Amino acid sequence: MDKISVVYSKDFLTDYPTVDCECPDRVDKIYSHIRDIADFTEPGLCDISDLTLCHSERLIKSVQRNPVTYNVACRSAGGAIKAAELALKAPSFALIRPPGHHAGHDFNGGFCFFNNMAIAIKRLIAKGLIGNALIVDIDLHYGNGTYDIVQADSNITFVNIDAASREDFFNDIEAALKNASSFDMLCCSAGFDTYINDWGGLLFTDDYRNAAHMLASSNPHFFTILEGGYFIPDLGINVRAYLKGLLEACS
Ligand SMILES: [Zn+2]
Repeated sequence: MDKISVVYSKDFLTDYPTVDCECPDRVDKIYSHIRDIADFTEPGLCDISDLTLCHSERLIKSVQRNPVTYNVACRSAGGAIKAAELALKAPSFALIRPPGHHAGHDFNGGFCFFNNMAIAIKRLIAKGLIGNALIVDIDLHYGNGTYDIVQADSNITFVNIDAASREDFFNDIEAALKNASSFDMLCCSAGFDTYINDWGGLLFTDDYRNAAHMLASSNPHFFTILEGGYFIPDLGINVRAYLKGLLEACS
């Protein structure tokens, strides 16, 4: 395999109202750095029935108040769904924004509107395409929204990596992946805000390659979605390193 399936839409360049650091340049920068190793797929919008698998009517209505935000948030969740569907055959990556892991059943925040990861997995389970899934969240921040939605679901296991050092980061991933092959699908919420020059100040570019390799080697049915990552100058090379790790694990 010389290319990895990447789900992407120009909709993700939409300048919807959010904080300055969660800007369209994030995905634009990544896109330009991965073009030669990516096989792009355009996602559709998720359905309202996908949203209600994870979110309250009140929360959905609150996002609908801004049609621009609602459209791109539905495209982002649709991107996660598409990546999950592709992962039934081969590993994939969803280059999407807005991110989702801080959106819970009846709350959102932290630049997130809908929980892309939870929506994708619950939809695949609801359609009978998978029976269970393991989520590993390697973003700098705790995936409180994902935890909120999946905690009561015995078919979904959620592990948040919260490491104080590089060594701990890899030890924690290794521990999280111990039984990864026993799940129908392995899913990663990938934030690149753990980067040495980003808020986390923890990982180097090549660490993302190693992390991706470990993950993709643990279960062939594997997809990753973009969560955080705000140091724009190196965001492209970090995601490229991650995709290289996926490709190496698949070859
Ligand atoms: Zn984060």
